[in-house]
Amino acid sequence: MDLEIPDIIIAIDGYSSTGKSSFAKRIAHSLGFLYLDSGALYRGVTLLVLENGWHGGDRIDTEKLEPALSGLDLHFEDHGKGTRTYMGERCIERQIRSMRVSALVSPVAALACVRHYVDQRLHELARDGRVVMDGRDIGTTVFPDAQLKIFMVADPLVRARRRMDELAEKGETVQLEEILENLRKRDYIDSHREISPLRKADDAIVLDNTDMTLDQQMDWLRELLVKRFGK
Ligand code: C5P
Repeated sequence: MDLEIPDIIIAIDGYSSTGKSSFAKRIAHSLGFLYLDSGALYRGVTLLVLENGWHGGDRIDTEKLEPALSGLDLHFEDHGKGTRTYMGERCIERQIRSMRVSALVSPVAALACVRHYVDQRLHELARDGRVVMDGRDIGTTVFPDAQLKIFMVADPLVRARRRMDELAEKGETVQLEEILENLRKRDYIDSHREISPLRKADDAIVLDNTDMTLDQQMDWLRELLVKRFGK
């Protein structure tokens, strides 16, 4: 984008599978900003829980998890094929997108120790500004002073279909009904949890992209940036 944008933080929040990360990645690419996927960090912690068997159903063994968080190195690397999530030296990008992780991530993300860990990581990673970050509480809790906040919504069926296509591309076949159920459950837990529930920040702008392509969303953003930052 041929726009001069100051060193700001752009916060993109919204429901699961509303296309936040595709939009955020495109914005980062066209503005030369760093993209940070906060959901990937929650997914990374969830993978740790699953691989160690620190849960029974949706109940997480926080006595085991909490001490492990202090030494947990979750970060992002880009080797020319887009940003990938790492746990130490191991690339965990594929594993964290599986249904197994999606099924447990919201209960894990509701824990105070996990939210504290992820918030700290995000602040460390975003310290130089010029960042676009997506999640559920970026504009309300993590960066309440972000200069631009967008809240994304879309029709649930459209969201489920997009998610199904995404999983299929990665070789995982999942029924639409199972995905819809997972989205419903995550939306519910995310917006009803005690700490940092998902909600629109008062100063966030809503983007309903049910019938919009990514290019149309970028046109929408461009207009917004011109209005806000004048160039
Ligand atoms: O964005 P994504 O769907 O990958 O996020 C996975 C889960 O992580 C969400 O369903 C939510 O439970 C949690 N999350 C959160 N706060 C964020 C980002 C994600 O609670 N800022």
